[in-house]
Amino acid sequence: MTVSDTQFIAAWRTVLAGCNLKAGEQVTLLTSTDTNPQSLRCATVAASELGGIITTVELPPMNGEVSLSRDKLAYVGATALRGNKAAMAALKSSDLIIDLMLLLFSPEQGEILESGSRMLLAVEPPEVLLRMIPTEDDRRRVLAATDRLKRARTMTATSRAGTDFTCALGDYPILTEYGLADLPGRWDHWPSGFLATWSNEGSASGRIVIDRGDIILPFKSYVQDAVELVFRDGYLREINGGFDAEFLREYMESFDDPEVYALSHIGWGLQPRAKWTAMGLYDREATIGMDARAFYGNFLFSTGPNTEAGGTRDTPCHMDIPLRNCSVYLDGEPMVIDGKVIPPDQRAD
Ligand code: FE
Repeated sequence: MTVSDTQFIAAWRTVLAGCNLKAGEQVTLLTSTDTNPQSLRCATVAASELGGIITTVELPPMNGEVSLSRDKLAYVGATALRGNKAAMAALKSSDLIIDLMLLLFSPEQGEILESGSRMLLAVEPPEVLLRMIPTEDDRRRVLAATDRLKRARTMTATSRAGTDFTCALGDYPILTEYGLADLPGRWDHWPSGFLATWSNEGSASGRIVIDRGDIILPFKSYVQDAVELVFRDGYLREINGGFDAEFLREYMESFDDPEVYALSHIGWGLQPRAKWTAMGLYDREATIGMDARAFYGNFLFSTGPNTEAGGTRDTPCHMDIPLRNCSVYLDGEPMVIDGKVIPPDQRAD
């Protein structure tokens, strides 16, 4: 579905105002050859209307020869900012960066944020962005969940499909995504509406069952036969099942890096306008799958890098795996039961 420039500019204006863009601020749009032209056009107009001083930095494509997909989340860590002092200088002297390229997981992103620039990633198609314009309610609920997660020392996940998993928390920061880069040094992603953290090193253990209908990213497939994952000492040690298990096993093996098996971020979805079904209606390379990552009541875990959390695990393979119908507990207190969000201050219904 296409959207009009008029509608999309208005959406950008709402989001950039929500990012506290003020007249006279330096706004840099970070683009690459595959940036959505309507996003670039409409973001530029909206930022100008709000009085931003606009610069566009276009970087060359990267990793084409090593990645098995055009989805930039299929091969992470190295970006075209590596060694690019001119681009880094422009980005570090920006108040607000609109990332229409996908810089996530690069050490350069951390360095830019430390300089105080705030950064909003937005690479999903215009109609997906329009459907999930961040709201004050999204922000309030995600922050309420963040407050609870900050105090947690253990996370447990269970499901009728057989998940029985636990990990220790507290050593890593929290990833809070409500869709607005509204504070100095803050990174966020439009669309989103979820939160996560990273388990303490070596603590993840137990079984996660990816059930029929659950999603594996970046494959962007709905699993057809259940996959059993066994975690011990913080790492994924066994991938058991039929075709889907074999595919996942072979894909992860292809990176030839033991660190791809580490547990990465882990959390739950709080975005009611993100839909479990949406990904099934798109060509695989038309989206990065934010509906799947954010849908309300999911249990999302991932494998691979922890550089986003200030860790040193820098591995290019990052699998995001959102599950339905799970229960998620913090220190025994339910956040989600059978896919339903429980705490009243996190609920959207
Ligand atoms: Fe992820």
